[in-house]
Amino acid sequence: MADSAGNDTSDEHEDHWDRLEAFLQTDPQDAGCDATMEVLDVYAELVAAGSDPADRFPGVKAHLLACGPCAEDLEGLLAAITGGSSTTDVP
Ligand SMILES: [Zn+2]
Repeated sequence: MADSAGNDTSDEHEDHWDRLEAFLQTDPQDAGCDATMEVLDVYAELVAAGSDPADRFPGVKAHLLACGPCAEDLEGLLAAITGGSSTTDVP
């Protein structure tokens, strides 16, 4: 009667990694650099306004997670919009 429920198979874990690997190799949601750049200013404004731009631009969010340069551009736009004190020259 002392059957423990800890009889997990490790197959689940391996399946998880397989899916992660597949995700990293091909991300069908990734909008790409060109499409991201086109909407990046709108995207940044939505972020600055406290909205969730992923609702409107899921492909762009996927791209920003995968593309360092585009993510940096977004950070720069956000800093400009919100007046972030990181890289502004204060007179
Ligand atoms: Zn990019």
